Amino acid sequence: MAKMRVAQVSRPNGPFELVERDVPEPAAGHVRIAVAACGICHSDTLTKDGTFPGIQYPRVPGHEVIGTVDAVGPDVVRLRPGQRVGVGWHGGQCGYCRACRHGDFFACETATRITGITSDGGYAEYVIARAEAVALVPDGLSPVDAAPLMCAGLTTFNALRNSGARAGDVVAVLGLGGLGHLGVQYAAKMGFRTVAIARGADKEPLARQLGAWRYVDSRATDPAAALRELGGARVVIATVTDGPAMTAVLGGLGVHGSLMVLGAPPSLEASAFLLISGSRSIRGWYSGTSIDSEETLAFSAFAGVRSMNEVFPLEHVAEAYERMLSGRARFRVVITTGR
Ligand SMILES: [Zn+2]
Ligand SMILES: [Zn+2]
Repeated sequence: MAKMRVAQVSRPNGPFELVERDVPEPAAGHVRIAVAACGICHSDTLTKDGTFPGIQYPRVPGHEVIGTVDAVGPDVVRLRPGQRVGVGWHGGQCGYCRACRHGDFFACETATRITGITSDGGYAEYVIARAEAVALVPDGLSPVDAAPLMCAGLTTFNALRNSGARAGDVVAVLGLGGLGHLGVQYAAKMGFRTVAIARGADKEPLARQLGAWRYVDSRATDPAAALRELGGARVVIATVTDGPAMTAVLGGLGVHGSLMVLGAPPSLEASAFLLISGSRSIRGWYSGTSIDSEETLAFSAFAGVRSMNEVFPLEHVAEAYERMLSGRARFRVVITTGR
C-alpha cells in the first residue's frame, strides 16, 4: 500500500509528529487531493491546543489546502483527477437542514465539518475532502500564492463584497497583519477609498504599497476622528483581536456604517447611543464556502492580489507553526510538501 507523510497532533498541546500513514481511499462523495501547499492559520491552535469542543486525536491540522485531485470516489460529478483545487475551513454541508435549505451552508446545523478539526487537514501529502467543499484554483496562482487565500483571503474578500459598501465609499481595514494586508489589497481593487489603520508610522509605506488611499497611525492619531474627517466610514473591516482597538474606531463609522468583526477578542464594548444615533451596526463575518473560495482565488488572480508568505517544508512544520504563533511572520506562513 502506498504511504504518505502527515504532521499529526496526538493530544491537546502535544507536539507535531511526522508519521507515515497509508494513503487513504476516497469514499462516495469524496476526493483525494495530493497536497502541494497548506497555509498555517491562527485557528490551527484549536487543533493543536485541543480547544475545539469534542475534537478527536490524532488529528492533522490545516485548512488552507492547495493541491491536485488525485483520486475521485463514487458519486462525484464535478471533479476529475488532475484538476488544481483547494479546501478551506468549511468542510461540507448536509444540504437538508434548515440553514442549508436557506442556502446558509456555512451554518449547517446537522454536521459541523471543519477541515483539520473534524477531519484531517493539509499538513500532509494527501487529504480527503468532500466534493462540495472543493474549490477550483485558476491558472496564474501558484500553490503557495493560493494557500493563504483559502482562509485569510476568503474571509477578507467575502466580508468586503458582502459589506454593502459601494465603489467610492470610504472603507477602513483595521490591522495590517495576515488578514489586513490582504483586506487592504481587496478593498483597493474593489474601488473603495481604502483606509488602512495600524499601530506605528513605520507601516505606512507598506499600506501605500498595498493600495491604501490613506494611512492612519492609531498610536499617533485618534482613528475615529481621522475617519470622521474623511466623511465617516461606510464599513470598517476589523481584523485585529483587540477589543479596545475595535471600540476605538466605532466613532468613525458614518451614518448606516458598519463594523465587520473578523478577529475574535474575548469581548467588545460599544456605545449604544452611537449605534442608535447613526443607525450603525456591528456584525460578525464567517469565512465562506467553496464557491466563495473559488471566487476569491479567481478575483485574486484577475486583480493581482497576493499574500506575502514565509515558506517552510513540511518537515519543518513545528518551526513554521512557532513562526505563525510569534506574530512576527510577514505575513502568512505556508508549508509545502514538495509535490
Ligand atoms: Zn483560518
Ligand atoms: Zn445542513
